[in-house]
Amino acid sequence: MTTPLLDVRDLDVTFTTPDGPGLRAVRGVSFTLRRGETLAVVGESGSGKSTTALALLRMLPGTGRITGGSVRLDGTELTTAPEDELRAVRGTRIGMVFQDPMTALNPVLTIGRQLDEVLRAHGGRDRAARRARALELLSLVGIPDPARRVDDHPHRFSGGQRQRVLIALALAGEPDVLVADEPTTALDATVQDQILTLLGDLTRTTGTALLLITHNLGVVARTCDRVLVMYGGTVVEDGPTAEVLARPRHPYTAGLLAAVP
Ligand code: ADP
Ligand code: MG
Repeated sequence: MTTPLLDVRDLDVTFTTPDGPGLRAVRGVSFTLRRGETLAVVGESGSGKSTTALALLRMLPGTGRITGGSVRLDGTELTTAPEDELRAVRGTRIGMVFQDPMTALNPVLTIGRQLDEVLRAHGGRDRAARRARALELLSLVGIPDPARRVDDHPHRFSGGQRQRVLIALALAGEPDVLVADEPTTALDATVQDQILTLLGDLTRTTGTALLLITHNLGVVARTCDRVLVMYGGTVVEDGPTAEVLARPRHPYTAGLLAAVP
């Protein structure tokens, strides 16, 4: 067995509260992600999905702290890595796509400029080559007529298109892992389906591993190799998608599946 790309063991995350003992939002979470694998993370709201994703890169909000466990990327421990080492991992080795594309895109820069900056930071020296790659990425994520749209500012794009642009930006750094936290929640059902399917397809063609947090079990069934189910801050189920969906072992998972139309 080769070492997994990402190896999370016994992860604990606590939010401290001024008076009480603190909230253990994530408790003993363990999972692995192999190169090129697509892993769905599902679970009710508040079950610790986002906290787990953010802890990978030590991007926890507020008083959130990792209080136990380890996160290894290709063997390198990230929970204790120096901040500059971690900065180098963000974006280039682990890319992130969040729910709201408007907060993640810079409103005053054209999307071409934003793509260019990522490509340059990623070592693209030649301006024309970066431009060509930017157009290629936009076309890859399904932005029609990229040559015409590349010099537009974010507000000129629809919500769904902005989410596609964000995915293009995340892929520009050629990360080994793409973490997408409910990337389509704000969009209508058809667009959600299209974009989540696109994410699955893209990661398959580029060899990028995908950790996809979503409520869309239909897309999970079609595009993800494995499913991890979280409940109350813990992992209650982890297995191949077909197996988990066909024979849920945890009552929560069974209920979740029963609720799918
Ligand atoms: P999910 O993404 O599965 O909906 P979260 O990871 O966002 O769940 O939240 C897990 C738990 O951590 C919840 O109880 C939530 O209230 C708590 N939590 C999340 N973010 C914060 C924060 N910034 N401060 C305090 N508690 C938080
Ligand atoms: Mg969340």
